[in-house]
Amino acid sequence: MSRGLWAEALLILALILLGMALGAWLGNLWIGLSVGLALVVLRLFWVVMRLALWLEHPRSPIAGRYAAGWLGHLGQRLRRAHLAQRRRDRRWLRLIREYRRAADALPDAVVALDQHHRILGFNPAARQLLGLRQRDLGLPVEHLLRQPDFIGFLRAADWARDVDVPSDYVAGQVLSVHMVPYVQGRLLLIARDVTRLQRLQAMRQDFVANVSHELRTPLTVLSGYIETLLDGDEDEVEALPQDLVRILNHMHLQSDRMRRIVEDLLLLSRLETTSPNEEQIELVHVPMLLNAIAEYAEHLSGEGAHHIVREITPELRMRGVTRELDSLFSNLVFNAVKYTQSGGTVTIRWFKDARGLVFEVQDTGIGIAPQHIPRLTERFYRVDVGRSRTMGGTGLGLAIVKHVMLRHHGRLVIESVLGQGSVFRCVFPS
Ligand code: ADP
Repeated sequence: MSRGLWAEALLILALILLGMALGAWLGNLWIGLSVGLALVVLRLFWVVMRLALWLEHPRSPIAGRYAAGWLGHLGQRLRRAHLAQRRRDRRWLRLIREYRRAADALPDAVVALDQHHRILGFNPAARQLLGLRQRDLGLPVEHLLRQPDFIGFLRAADWARDVDVPSDYVAGQVLSVHMVPYVQGRLLLIARDVTRLQRLQAMRQDFVANVSHELRTPLTVLSGYIETLLDGDEDEVEALPQDLVRILNHMHLQSDRMRRIVEDLLLLSRLETTSPNEEQIELVHVPMLLNAIAEYAEHLSGEGAHHIVREITPELRMRGVTRELDSLFSNLVFNAVKYTQSGGTVTIRWFKDARGLVFEVQDTGIGIAPQHIPRLTERFYRVDVGRSRTMGGTGLGLAIVKHVMLRHHGRLVIESVLGQGSVFRCVFPS
């Protein structure tokens, strides 16, 4: 205990003794004791008053003779705690300011929203990109960003994906909007200007589409001539030098491959740049499509080389674009045949369950190592380029599958074990 506290304790003891002495002098110990205790209470009251005054003005020193006493001791402790708290507060304030400055310096618009999507705050970029003003604080964000795609995105509340929306504020600008949940249902809306990126993407798509389109006619002419030469009279073909026949056969194979790449590129660019129009969407008789594909797969596989098993629910149809679904199913079934050794099994399934409408192709083929699976739907991504070419692959099949799935609001799941086989599953909303 400090000296101050000892002194205070001695003072209290002295007051009690004084009271008792007074009691002895008066001949009534109780009266004396009561007076002594009353003095102690008064002293304590006075100390508390001083302390309360000091706490109201903590900057004022506890001056005079009390500085060394009990009050001084308690005061100093409180003062130290108070100063430490102030240091902590200052540190927090500095940190908050730094975060604020960092958020202000971001080129992306950042808007904090509460659980009802009302605006709590935003950074300067949000003024420029979204046109937000101070008076918008507290308003629901959908009152200010009214694009139907954005409203749909908010309602779906699937924050794993982002959405590209044309800006309401700057004409011709495209924003990519992303939501990040933080505390207690609050969200950070992050909007980025992707106009340039989209323009570049559009340029790339146009370029690929134009080149493919321009190549289509000369290629058709070339393969036509080669086919004419090879399909001529048997005597005429036999009359040609053997080397020339070999070269022509090779040219035929390669021009055919180029034609298929061009066709796939044109299909891909159509899938990427247009959205399916209502007239193309119909109730597709999927079992009919799948049976035709299975028959073609048997033909492709040659004399009973693969077991093609059909587990197709009859009469189960779905809404979609027939040509696109045909392309999707064929790509997956033909891949299963291409990448399964002779004698293997390819199972084609079409059914409905709790997940929705499910199309599944399972094979007992070469399988795919896990590191390749996330990249398979990229254009020209092939696990084994040589093998894909020998099998007549273009490297675009799964990219087409991905786009058709997107256009049909479906989900593609790939499961595979190297050396054992793969399952390609397409789940469509029912
Ligand atoms: P490709 O024309 O080369 O078959 P795809 O886009 O259809 O191109 O497929 C991309 C790659 O995915 C293929 O090159 C192959 O390596 C792999 N792949 C696709 N389907 C299967 C499958 N059923 N089994 C094993 N590998 C597959």
